[in-house]
Amino acid sequence: MGSSSSEQVIADLRKSLAWLDLVLATLNEGVVVLNGNMEVLFANDALADMLGKPRVLLLGASVWDILQLRTEDKILAKPEYKKVQQKDIVKSLSGVFQLWTENSIINIESSAEHIENTSHTVLVIRDVTERLQAQTQRVKIAQERAAREAAQISEQRVLIQYKVASILAESQKQEVAITEILKIVGKGLGWKAGVIWTLDTKKAKLQYASSWTDGTPQLRYFISDSRQKTFLKNEGLPGRVWKKLESQWENDVAASEDFPRKESARKAGLHGAFAIPLLSGKEFVGIMEFFSDRVQKPDKELLTSMTTVGMQTAEYMRRKSVERLTSSLREQKAYLLELNKAKDEFISVASHQLRTPATVVKQFLGMMMEGYCGDLTEAQKEFAEIAYESNERQIVIVNDLLRVAQVDAGKVILKQQEIDLDKLLRSILREQKAKFAERQQTLSYVNKFGPIVAPIDITHFRMALENIIDNASKYTELGENTTITLYKNDTSAIISVQDKGIGIAKDDIDKIFHKFTRIDNPMSVLVGGSGLGLYWCKKIIELHEGSISVASVVGKGTTFTIYVPIK
Ligand code: ADP
Repeated sequence: MGSSSSEQVIADLRKSLAWLDLVLATLNEGVVVLNGNMEVLFANDALADMLGKPRVLLLGASVWDILQLRTEDKILAKPEYKKVQQKDIVKSLSGVFQLWTENSIINIESSAEHIENTSHTVLVIRDVTERLQAQTQRVKIAQERAAREAAQISEQRVLIQYKVASILAESQKQEVAITEILKIVGKGLGWKAGVIWTLDTKKAKLQYASSWTDGTPQLRYFISDSRQKTFLKNEGLPGRVWKKLESQWENDVAASEDFPRKESARKAGLHGAFAIPLLSGKEFVGIMEFFSDRVQKPDKELLTSMTTVGMQTAEYMRRKSVERLTSSLREQKAYLLELNKAKDEFISVASHQLRTPATVVKQFLGMMMEGYCGDLTEAQKEFAEIAYESNERQIVIVNDLLRVAQVDAGKVILKQQEIDLDKLLRSILREQKAKFAERQQTLSYVNKFGPIVAPIDITHFRMALENIIDNASKYTELGENTTITLYKNDTSAIISVQDKGIGIAKDDIDKIFHKFTRIDNPMSVLVGGSGLGLYWCKKIIELHEGSISVASVVGKGTTFTIYVPIK
């Protein structure tokens, strides 16, 4: 009875084992039961399939012999049992491994479990190759998408740069161009607002220059706040860019420690920001900043590409400011030329008008002094003489003015003839000697060349020489000598007039050939003059295609040197 019932139990057990076997056989997972020595007590078909071995060959084999498990960096080998506890060994069999068989490598996930109250361990092994492949595929797709997006972004940024470059190449007004740039960059990045700051005239602070927004109404709080602000070096976002001369990033200006426009940024819903310097070479012109409605993580590549935009913009702004300067100078020059012409005309007209009455005064005073209206008393004679002399001076000045007006209007036409300059100078000397003697001065003449012939207009050229020789006497103390030398080189006749007079200071030397220049010294006051003589002389000499130069030492004397072509 007992045996029949135990047979029954065994039969039942067999049945349930067969059933279990069946169940295990239907599983995709490989299942293996190990004894305390980690030898195979049971293995299902799925495991045998994975290993490519018949099931019977597995039974009794050590798990370390049949399962070659590897991770990326190590092969799972039979541990030293004395050192390691069973439960740790079991644990080490759980995880994701590569299962190396004779024919293939399979990615598996295994879970090992110790069966309570026995020394047995159950190992369930799942082939995850496909799953891993799918996962790899997913990662690959994600990576490709990211790469595509990155390419789009970088294309977008290149496009921004291209558009900026074309705006700057067009010749529109600076205000229009820089607002356009803010728009291109802001829109291109999908950000909300941008502001440009430029240095004020004293280069002491940054001031608002221009802005752009995408039209969101509450952004106006931020823009009107920006308009009112200025930034010193190292103050706020613009000031920091100025100090460091490099771009700056703010993840969230609404939460920033150093953002004076924090309140209005919050009201406007602005967060992420970056700012770039506008540098033309080393010259700092201003900064450009952009704002996003989202918190933004630093984007190095964005800053790099925007730095290029900043450089382009700065270069443009510098070019524009040079253009502005040039055109205002051009206008000023045109205005001055106009003014000069008007003045020349006035002088010409006025001196003509002045000459006639002065000549009449001269005639009548002369007649009076000659007794046409009866004898004059001594006092009357003296007064008449003073009036006559003053009138003479006035006539000289009026004549000077007329001479200059004529030469300026291009009305002097030379009548050149071959003239011996030696002869001309001797004649001038004879006339001037008396004048020099009046001032106890002497006038010497040196010529080692004999006759030197040059094509000159004798009337004008003589007047020019007389003027220079006259000055040598006028601007020299009593008793000194003046030397005139005539010589030549291959191309020119050269006349030098060397006095031992008061000289001309270095700073004044360039001025003496200008119209109405009278150097401020006691002698100029004493001798009087119009400041027109040398201007006229230079013009006349230049009409002869010659030149005049001057060398002088204050207190020692002055030498004028005149060159006239001889051929
Ligand atoms: P003016 O003699 O009528 O003042 P000029 O055109 O002849 O005008 O000379 C311009 C200025 O140059 C003079 O006022 C004088 O100060 C200076 N100057 C000219 N010649 C001499 C000279 N030989 N020595 C020193 N100063 C001179």
